[in-house]
Amino acid sequence: MHNNSYLELDPKAYKINIDFLRKHFHKGVLFSSVVKGNAYGHSIEKFVEIAVAEKVTHFSVFDSNEARRVQAVVGEKATVMIMGWLSNEDDLPWVIENNIEFFVFEKHRLTAALASAKKLGKKAIVHIEVETGMNRTGFNSSELKWVQDFLLKNAEFIEFKGLCTHFAGAESIANYFRIKKQIDRYDEIYNQFCDKGLKPKQKHAACSAAAMMYPETQMDMVRIGIMQYGFWSSPEVLVNFYNTKRKNENPLKRVISWKSEVMSVKKVKRGEFVGYGTSFMADANMKIACVPVGYAHGYGRSLSNVGRVLINGERCVVIGSINMNMMVIDVTLLDNIKRNDEVVLIGDQADKQLSVSSFSDYSNLLNYELLTRLSADIPRIIKN
Ligand SMILES: *Cc1c(COP(=O)(O)O)cnc(C)c1O
Repeated sequence: MHNNSYLELDPKAYKINIDFLRKHFHKGVLFSSVVKGNAYGHSIEKFVEIAVAEKVTHFSVFDSNEARRVQAVVGEKATVMIMGWLSNEDDLPWVIENNIEFFVFEKHRLTAALASAKKLGKKAIVHIEVETGMNRTGFNSSELKWVQDFLLKNAEFIEFKGLCTHFAGAESIANYFRIKKQIDRYDEIYNQFCDKGLKPKQKHAACSAAAMMYPETQMDMVRIGIMQYGFWSSPEVLVNFYNTKRKNENPLKRVISWKSEVMSVKKVKRGEFVGYGTSFMADANMKIACVPVGYAHGYGRSLSNVGRVLINGERCVVIGSINMNMMVIDVTLLDNIKRNDEVVLIGDQADKQLSVSSFSDYSNLLNYELLTRLSADIPRIIKN
C-alpha cells in the first residue's frame, strides 16, 4: 500500500516538550497528558505509546471511547481520566471496573455511579467539577451542599479523588479578570469542601495556557494538551513566556509532520482558469503540480488559493480551490520538479518550515481545530 499522505510523529520532539514542561511546572505537580480528539489528531494509539515511553502516567480524555483506546495501550501502567461524556447506563460499569476516573458535574451521574459501584462492589473514582464562571459543565453553587452530603454519606463506594474546574479562555489576556475571578471562586469552593471534612486528593484546574499564564493554577495536577504536541495555545501565551525570559527562543518542538508527494505535473496557458470555477486564473504561462490531499483528509477548503506547501525545498502556493482529494500547486519556478517528489504540508524541508500556526493564520483556524481535523485514515508513523 502506498498512501496519499502520511503523518510522522517525532518522539525526540515530544521528549523536548515534556522535559521543558516538567522543568517549568512547580515541583510535584502531576502531568496529565490530554489526548482527546484522537490526541489532537496525532492518533491516540501512536501518541500514547510515545508518551508512555517518556514516563507519562496520567491521561485525560473526553469520552469513554477514548478511554478504552488509551487503556488498550497503557493497561495498568497509567491512570485514565474522562473529562466529558460517558453513558451512565452503558459505560459506567466498565469505567468503574477498570479504575477509570471521571468528572462528575451532574447529580444523575453521581447517583448512577453509586448504584454501579454498589453492584460491582468496587469504588467509583470521581472528580467533582464545579462551576466557577465558564458556565459550561460543573455543579452550580446551589448544588454543592447536596454533593457534599452525598460524598460524606457514600464514601464507602465513591472515592472523592479530585476537585476541578476549567477556565474560560486562559490563552487570551482579554479574559484576565474573568479567569482571576474563577481562580478566587475555585479557592472558596475548595475551602468550603475542606470545612466539611472533604479534602480532595487532587486539586486541578489548569490547561496549557492557565498553567503558563497563571502559575498558581497548577495546584496538584495540570491537564496539558496543546503544548505537549509542540504548539502554544495562542501567540499571547508565547509572548508572555518570552517576557519572562532573557532569550526569545521557542522551547517547544512540533511533534507532527504531514507529508505527501507530487502526483502529476503539467503546464497551463496564460488566461486559463485552474480547477473548479473561476477562483484562479493563470496570469502567465505556468506549471502546476497536483498533490493527492484535499478536504476529505483534513486540509480545509478555507486554504483554497492561500495554503502553502514545501516542494524541492521551496515554499509554493495552493491555487484554486481545495478539492475533496486533491489540491493544485503553482510550481512554475521549480525547474526540476517531478512526480513522486516529496510535498510537505506541515513540517520541514531543507531549511524551510511550515508550521500549523502559519496555516491557521491563513485560514483563521485555530491550531486545535486544524490538528483534530486531520483524518483518522491517514497513517501515522513514528519517526525513529
Ligand atoms: C482540552 C482540555 C484541556 C487541555 O487544554 P490545552 O489548551 O490543550 O492544554 C484541559 N482541561 C479540559 C477540561 C479540557 O477540555
